Amino acid sequence: MILREDIHIHTRLSSCGKPEGIAADYIRQARELNYRLIGFADHMWDSAVSGAPNWYVPQNLAHIFEIKKELAEADTAGIEIRVGCECEYDLGHRDIAVAEEAAAQLDFMLVPNSHTHITFHGGRDDRRVHAQFMLRAFHDIVNSKNAKYVTAIAHPFHAVACPYPQKELQDVITDKEYYDCYTAAAQAGIGIEFNPCCVGDIREMTDEAMQNGDFFRMFSIAKECGCRFTFGSDRHTAVNYTRYPKLEKFIDVLGLTENDFISIV
Ligand SMILES: [Zn+2]
Ligand SMILES: [Zn+2]
Repeated sequence: MILREDIHIHTRLSSCGKPEGIAADYIRQARELNYRLIGFADHMWDSAVSGAPNWYVPQNLAHIFEIKKELAEADTAGIEIRVGCECEYDLGHRDIAVAEEAAAQLDFMLVPNSHTHITFHGGRDDRRVHAQFMLRAFHDIVNSKNAKYVTAIAHPFHAVACPYPQKELQDVITDKEYYDCYTAAAQAGIGIEFNPCCVGDIREMTDEAMQNGDFFRMFSIAKECGCRFTFGSDRHTAVNYTRYPKLEKFIDVLGLTENDFISIV
């Protein structure tokens, strides 16, 4: 299956973005690669929500909306452009770090349950404690008062900068725990993101090996629960922006079709 919409792109406005994360460069290449839509999703913590970690303080709504100045001057013919964000999960309030006034201004919103390197202090070495944090974050996001603004969970259960293999985390999460999460997400109409980080090591794997690999079980359960999906490259630079044939293969092996994907056109 060919993925048509990439709605998880960081620009240089993200503190972790590269200087080459230039909107016009992404747009030009995305058009050549036959994407019909791309969405900019810089990191955000809404200033209206207290308790932002220092790293997030400058990355508020006004900051990420600076992209609109660049977009006003860019050649956007032949491709749809959206401005959303990757909004942080707020452990202190057990909610999404956004107030409704800001959420309502975004074209879409991604929220990760797995930025554990930022939001979860202590206990990452204990796989089960680490996994439980992400399970709790997932439910907090789905149950948020602003859940209706959430387009998708970004890179679900893929703990960023995890000090050990992701599979060790996957293995301590039960099927039932995944069913509970994904049933809740499906009922809330919240999508589940496919992100290249989920298939980082499939490379030349056979279909069979892929089905035994990291994340296949999780996405199978999400599908069974009736979830719909989004795609996000999670790129931080526009240099050599590309397609992801391995991820598209992974999605084919899962048996998903274009109808399983949320379109924000
Ligand atoms: Zn992320
Ligand atoms: Zn991201």
